Amino acid sequence: MRKSAVVLLSGGLDSATCLAIAGQRGYRCHALSFDYGQRSTAEIEAARHQAQEQDVAEHRLLKLPLGQFGGSALTDSNIEVPESPGDGIPVTYVPARNTIFLAHALAWAEVLSADAIFIGVNALDYSGYPDCRPEYVEAYQQLIDIATKAGVEGRKISLEAPLIHMSKAEIIRTGTELGVNYSHTLSCYQADGQGLACGQCDSCRLRREGFAAAGIADPTRYRAAVQAVRP
Ligand code: ZN
Repeated sequence: MRKSAVVLLSGGLDSATCLAIAGQRGYRCHALSFDYGQRSTAEIEAARHQAQEQDVAEHRLLKLPLGQFGGSALTDSNIEVPESPGDGIPVTYVPARNTIFLAHALAWAEVLSADAIFIGVNALDYSGYPDCRPEYVEAYQQLIDIATKAGVEGRKISLEAPLIHMSKAEIIRTGTELGVNYSHTLSCYQADGQGLACGQCDSCRLRREGFAAAGIADPTRYRAAVQAVRP
């Protein structure tokens, strides 16, 4: 029987690539996205595009009102998205986000009797989030093993983070080879209603630098004014 996996799909560049890698490895993919009160719901549209283009077995969208807690520039409109990386963990960190997302992925994976969970975290070209590090992935694997019926009964649910040691340029090259349409992904922390990227936030910066380093034309749809000022 074909292996199956739950793949966290935000609609960003990394998760779209992660989904393509899971597919290439032969997994039947069940994509999971969240409407968690993020600033830009255009990324949910991007996730829908990716799920469709990459022909997943199923795509679920769960509502998680993390905006009720706030505490992040991404979920609280009173906290501004910074345009340059400062010291330490940035205000775009969403408290415990990956732990919360993975908990839901794990529940679904157990129901599906899935073999793996894929998450597109990356420890190189990233913003300094603690829940994107290899030790985090290892610790979560231990949790999966002891916290689930599957784990106790010896049915391994493997937590896969294929991008963890890749640079942004490597991620883009890999996804391009696998046919990912990056014009239908959204990385910007403050995209507008049409899904146009600001071109200036930390996430836009990492993405632009990644395409430049990969030597691949950046298909991102930026706001016209930004594109004129910062080509
Ligand atoms: Zn941006």
